[in-house]
Amino acid sequence: MTQPLLESELEPRYLYVHTFGCQMNEYDSLRVQRILAAHGYLVTPDMVSADVIFLNTCSVREKAEQKVHSFLGRLKRLKSHHPGLKIILAGCVAQQLGNKLLKRFDHLDLVLGTRAISAVGDLLEKIQQTNKRLAYLPEVDSMTPRELFTASPAATSPVTAPVTIMQGCNNFCTYCIVPYVRGRERSRPSREILDEIEKLTSCGTREVLLLGQNVNSYGRGLEEKISFVELLHRIQEETDLLRLRFTTSHPKDLTDELIRCFADLPVLCKYLHLPVQAGSDRILKRMNRGYTAGHYLEKIQRLRDACPEIGLSSDVIVGFPGETEEDFQQTMDLLKTVQYDNLFSFRYSDRPHARAAAFDDKLDEETKARRLMELQALQADITLRKNEAEVGTLREILVEGPSKTQEELLTGRTHQNRIVHFESTRPCTGELITVRIREAASHSLKGEPAA
Ligand code: SF4
Repeated sequence: MTQPLLESELEPRYLYVHTFGCQMNEYDSLRVQRILAAHGYLVTPDMVSADVIFLNTCSVREKAEQKVHSFLGRLKRLKSHHPGLKIILAGCVAQQLGNKLLKRFDHLDLVLGTRAISAVGDLLEKIQQTNKRLAYLPEVDSMTPRELFTASPAATSPVTAPVTIMQGCNNFCTYCIVPYVRGRERSRPSREILDEIEKLTSCGTREVLLLGQNVNSYGRGLEEKISFVELLHRIQEETDLLRLRFTTSHPKDLTDELIRCFADLPVLCKYLHLPVQAGSDRILKRMNRGYTAGHYLEKIQRLRDACPEIGLSSDVIVGFPGETEEDFQQTMDLLKTVQYDNLFSFRYSDRPHARAAAFDDKLDEETKARRLMELQALQADITLRKNEAEVGTLREILVEGPSKTQEELLTGRTHQNRIVHFESTRPCTGELITVRIREAASHSLKGEPAA
């Protein structure tokens, strides 16, 4: 493997990054930017002037995968005008299709599996020197934690930064491709996580989002004896973070101990994303989720008893094979009961390898689309009502910087992950401030700093 050159020895070359999918992919894309910076690459927002295009892909839903294929197709023309351009494709689609992608897209140079991110710099140098195209899909068991999780994703730290604590999943929900493209669960040693958080806070990060497909199982399989709850306590005690969040949690693994953390740990934001997926026990069983709607609702109650102000969000899939009108109404009833602050909802689509792809009682697209529209309309009402109930309250927010939609305003988030825009007479990015909420809209709030 070649040694990266020092930044000062290199002419700048340009890297364009496009990320599809989840926060784990966002994190991996940041790692790639960091690794390629050491090989002399500057990030550019202009794809046409790039020397390397890095696409990080998602195959968790069929639609996301189709977007990747069409994006890749469009790059063929660009490459014909710029033959030196190298195109790299990573993430779940890369892991799933591997060499087939090189055969189908002859302008693609490098395919990297989900566990291959740390090798991107060396492999890019290799394909540049040899002019050969390559797919690299290492087995997860053959990798060290350092190769899997390379630390310090960014040279400059944003106010809020992600930190991966585990990868992969052992749950095998019948609709999900993740265990096949991300492999079995692997946790990251706690010392590495704490070191990364320490580096981030020393560069200005105030809030960390711990990432994993199923963070509640953190620690299984590690040599050290540590649980997710113990990790949260250590972060509270040993770091200078102002705020901590985590995602994603599996309802079946949400313990009373973890629920107590929302009341006991000041650093932990009072917010939980707890995917329910369906409100019908019959469908939950076919999804292999490992809980009933009743068990799920009991956990929601215990969360609210321990921490009455907790904000909640969830994921729902509509139109799972065999979903009847009655099953769907049970999902709608669950939404009415829980009153989530926010919801991410999707139509079911077949995924390769996933068991549900072989189920024979699929629903037609029209029914799925109608149910999704009904469900989203219900949730839009709930979210708006909950946002309106915020008007007049005082909320502590962490200020993240200028608003993306209204330049003259700053933006922050409440504990419950609500976005608040406000005017400020002084720079206060990175600070915790208190605002009075003045207006509510469907996706955000407006406020003013409290005296
Ligand atoms: S818990 Fe289920 S839905 Fe989540 S990543 Fe694992 S298999 Fe997929």
